[in-house]
Amino acid sequence: MVIKKEQLAEISELRAQSNQTLRPVSHELEKVIYQPFTVLDHGFVRVIDYMGNDDSVVQAARVSYGSGTKKVNADKALINYLMAHRHTTPFEMCEIKFHIKLPIFVARQWIRHRTASVNEYSARYSIVEDEFYIPQAQHLSAQSTVNHQGRDENKVLNADEQKHVLKLLKEDSSKAYNDYLEMINQDSSGNIVDESKEGLARELARMNLPLNCYTQWYWKIDLHNLLHFLNLRADKHAQYEIRVYAQIMLDLVKKWVPNCYDAFVKNNQTGKNFSGPALLIIKKLLRGEKVSQEGSGLSAREFSELMTILDL
Ligand SMILES: Cc1cc2nc3c(=O)[nH]c(=O)nc-3n(C[C@H](O)[C@H](O)[C@H](O)COP(=O)(O)OP(=O)(O)OC[C@H]3O[C@@H](n4cnc5c(N)ncnc54)[C@H](O)[C@@H]3O)c2cc1C
Repeated sequence: MVIKKEQLAEISELRAQSNQTLRPVSHELEKVIYQPFTVLDHGFVRVIDYMGNDDSVVQAARVSYGSGTKKVNADKALINYLMAHRHTTPFEMCEIKFHIKLPIFVARQWIRHRTASVNEYSARYSIVEDEFYIPQAQHLSAQSTVNHQGRDENKVLNADEQKHVLKLLKEDSSKAYNDYLEMINQDSSGNIVDESKEGLARELARMNLPLNCYTQWYWKIDLHNLLHFLNLRADKHAQYEIRVYAQIMLDLVKKWVPNCYDAFVKNNQTGKNFSGPALLIIKKLLRGEKVSQEGSGLSAREFSELMTILDL
């Protein structure tokens, strides 16, 4: 189960309360605050709190005494200008706090982003839950021969191989978890199993658990660094299992700061920076000249990526 009944009840209770404030709010984000959005088989993303909205970026950029906002179009243009010219500090004036449940191997990639504040579920203090990420069959693909650090999403394993892989994943997860419980001499609810035994400390027993176990954390970050994270992790080069989290978070950013979201999509997600040699090739193409990789200053891979971007 992604989220237990009693946890859902706590969330509903929180959502039934409301507070008056003089601070800027984001009405679209308020509609979904605290609500969990399901990711993978047992994971979720939910927004716990936030500070600021689109106006806060504008207000900081103009170092204003009041709201700092002008006409809607002027504010939107200013946000786009800031994003396009990497004037990043106004975006740091907005902050957001998420509660995220994710497999440990996804957490290993996620934690490389050092600009967030994190507090993680303690497997020294608490019993690890009996939940493991088991991919859906259509995500079981072979190693890519082009991008050596990922799968080739077009090379899905055949049905027999899928079945065998899923069997191994399920059996290994279950065996490791049962051994974990045996070592701590407790059941998953924390009841002692054999009164005559001490049971191993949780901080040691956990070392045998697989990377597809779920963990949870609170993760707080400012908008500038969040967009940097999303730019890398919602990208097609990122692993599917982290990308699905990033995509949901992007939708939440859209609700929270729609103008910043639009500027981000325009300048980063659908836009591209080109190297000097790549720009020279584009100029040649515009003049109708022939181009080739040899002598262009680009590697074969860079040249091929450029041609793909240009739909050539
Ligand atoms: C597709 C993909 C593949 C990857 N493959 C690998 C891999 O094979 N092996 C591996 O080890 N990692 C890998 N990574 C992780 C990657 O190298 C980065 O560690 C990760 O993306 C975090 O990026 P960041 O440092 O820019 O982000 P953050 O830590 O969030 O930092 C944001 C920005 O703050 C600044 N900053 C933060 N801390 C410092 C600092 N101490 N010194 C100077 N500037 C700082 C930098 O400008 C940085 O860009 C991969 C990432 C991606 C997206």
